[in-house]
Amino acid sequence: MRLALSLFFAATLAVFGCGAVAAQDQPPSKAEQADSRRFAAHNSLFVLYHEVAHLLFDQLSVPVLGREEDAADNMASWLLLKKRSKEADQALADAAQGWVLSGVAYDSGGMESDFYAAHSLDKQRAFQIVCLMVGSDQKAFRSIANQYRIDRDRQDSCQVDFDTVARSFEAVLGGGKYKTDGTSVTVTYHPAEEDLQAAADAFRSSGVFDQVAQELRTKYKLRRHVRFNARSCGEANAYYDPESLEVIFCYELMQDYMDLYTGALAESGSGKTK
Ligand SMILES: [Zn+2]
Repeated sequence: MRLALSLFFAATLAVFGCGAVAAQDQPPSKAEQADSRRFAAHNSLFVLYHEVAHLLFDQLSVPVLGREEDAADNMASWLLLKKRSKEADQALADAAQGWVLSGVAYDSGGMESDFYAAHSLDKQRAFQIVCLMVGSDQKAFRSIANQYRIDRDRQDSCQVDFDTVARSFEAVLGGGKYKTDGTSVTVTYHPAEEDLQAAADAFRSSGVFDQVAQELRTKYKLRRHVRFNARSCGEANAYYDPESLEVIFCYELMQDYMDLYTGALAESGSGKTK
């Protein structure tokens, strides 16, 4: 299957390690705006599965062998790969690209503290998604692995990585073990300030928040009530709060993804490499 990797992708890889994305010379076209909303929604979907992974690890006392942030990313990739749909595959491709772009924009790995942080480096998170993709289905995802310049040996060994991830999550979360319609989840979209209104509208209309909430209601049995809250936070973030059992998605993060996309588009259009 061919994934719609954006035209600016190669240019983005070429500017790894360079400065933040450039300002746009002219406003994006309607089609580019739609693409940026799709890209942002897919990245948000990946992040929401990542936060749900934290929630499930916590509430179901799932054993986590290794770094929890890596495990949460792996679970998000595994959940999307299990769907075996064009949309889910595209979401993974967009999520990988999102980590590439944020790695460049925020200079991930540029500071010593990045190496002891809870999360892997953005570029590693991108490569891990692509590794699990090609590991799950060599034929379907060979082209994206090649675009990321993952060599053939590693593409082959990614199959072992994927099998380990799939076997592990199937063992603790699969097989209908937690299937139920009893989990109570409420979804609330809080009002956004004017400058985040477009991002808030794009996030809500994408349906990703409701989709993930519904999967939580129908696929996992949690005793406590879970709240999904979308709101302005003052920072581009999403997180799980174990005290209040909330999954919080900040409108700033949706805005950030849209900006990353249009910024990279401008960068590729201008041909500049800073
Ligand atoms: Zn996390």
